Amino acid sequence: MHGLSWGNKTTKEMFIVIAFDLDGVLRDLQGYLRTKYGVPLPSVWFFTYKGLGFWEWAEFDNNKMPLLAKPTKYYNTIRKHCKNIEIWTHQYPHWRPLTKLWIKKYLGDCTVRFLTTKQKRARLDRCKDTILIEDCPNFKSYDRIVLIDKPYNRNIKAKRIKKVGQLEKLLLKEGK
Ligand SMILES: [Mg+2]
Repeated sequence: MHGLSWGNKTTKEMFIVIAFDLDGVLRDLQGYLRTKYGVPLPSVWFFTYKGLGFWEWAEFDNNKMPLLAKPTKYYNTIRKHCKNIEIWTHQYPHWRPLTKLWIKKYLGDCTVRFLTTKQKRARLDRCKDTILIEDCPNFKSYDRIVLIDKPYNRNIKAKRIKKVGQLEKLLLKEGK
């Protein structure tokens, strides 16, 4: 099943699929760590704070974060404009059960694909009708990837979303 059912077609009579990364796009793990433990928003992808990296903080928190993290500021707009959301996310196996619960709680029924960064790129290269909304700075190419602006991805040259309104515009435009 394809991601978004806007019910509209492009001039090429092709449905555009917008896929969403989960963490940093819909689920706010950084906000959770900041609120609960005072971990500042990282400026690099592999950060440490008080000697602990992300996965060590997750363990320190008994891995409750995947369920208890709140949605990002982009969540409402995505919900509003996308009926069937398609998620592409790389989750380690021990995070998948709670991640599935988070998705059920906040997004309901939707298509979820567990893909690494490499696999996401390969899928984008295969599926030319698809664009991906992401925050990860580790892709080989950013063709058809739109970056959610974060301090740790500012060195990447790509189409970039800084404000909720910009994402809303994109969702409205691509939906035509
Ligand atoms: Mg992410």
